[in-house]
Amino acid sequence: MPQVQTVRGPVDTADLGTTLMHEHIFVLTADVQQNYPEEWGSEEERISDAVRRLSELPGRGIRTIVDPTVIGLGRYIPRIQRIAEQVPDLNIVVATGCYTYDDVPFFFHYRGPALNAAVGAEVPDPMVDMFVKDIEEGITGTGVKAGLLKCAIDHQGMTSGVERVMRAVAKAHRRTGVPITVHTHPGSRQGLEAQRVLGDEGVDPGRVVLGHSGDTTDVEHLTELAEAGFVLGFDRFGINLDTTFEARADTLVEMCRRGYAGQIVLSQDANCYIDWLAPGVMDLLPQWHYTHIHDDVLPYVREHGVTDEQIDTMLVANPRRYFETVSPY
Ligand SMILES: [Zn+2]
Repeated sequence: MPQVQTVRGPVDTADLGTTLMHEHIFVLTADVQQNYPEEWGSEEERISDAVRRLSELPGRGIRTIVDPTVIGLGRYIPRIQRIAEQVPDLNIVVATGCYTYDDVPFFFHYRGPALNAAVGAEVPDPMVDMFVKDIEEGITGTGVKAGLLKCAIDHQGMTSGVERVMRAVAKAHRRTGVPITVHTHPGSRQGLEAQRVLGDEGVDPGRVVLGHSGDTTDVEHLTELAEAGFVLGFDRFGINLDTTFEARADTLVEMCRRGYAGQIVLSQDANCYIDWLAPGVMDLLPQWHYTHIHDDVLPYVREHGVTDEQIDTMLVANPRRYFETVSPY
């Protein structure tokens, strides 16, 4: 029976059930938090707040969330373990990888390929072994193994740092078989740039979620990416600052009408606390929370022609296939 790694250990992929494929618990700027912890406040209160919010999910039928919080987003697994222990009916899959829109973190700046010219040879990127260790041995001695790989490309495009991380993620993927999620910026069609580099590394697009694809209403562009074989993340429902609820939902309806439900996954990119936003900003986004899809999006898309079978495909079958296709190649 194929299994996926979660915070509490391996779970049969048949038991993943309804899966939200891109939700954070905490997004933190680690060294700012270490030095200015006042806004974060009480660790115990933050943990119980997360437990309270996540405990609502099993009541909506949600069995699994995928948390792609990696280096650059303040990943700290011991805290996530404490939360997972207190929400026993929810599986949490965690990730390895690196999140940047431009340069690599300074830790990596003068290592690996940065030394090629000085050494006169190809120096392997230490990121690859770090990611593989998180997948095969576990993260920071916790025993928790990463279930997926994550990288990012935004409107800045394929900078040298973004490319370096994406190639390291691709190599760790080929070695382990663990699937990939990429933060993309579909407004500037960065999925095509990801396609170029991942294709060059020999990555099967069917094992890759192009995250945040639902941020655009350009269904021709999304059709092109789906035709290339990628899984599209409609994974920011509720972030309606530059867009609207209807624009996001109508784009999903149209992609289902075009026959692509087999390549779409759903989520909200929500969190319990993100230190990128000043206190109060979350109040401007009242629909940005973990149950918005079940409370608001699913009723709307059903009314507009999306079938229960298509919804099950996007929430259950596609995540299962993504996590059970894990042979190295
Ligand atoms: Zn995210």
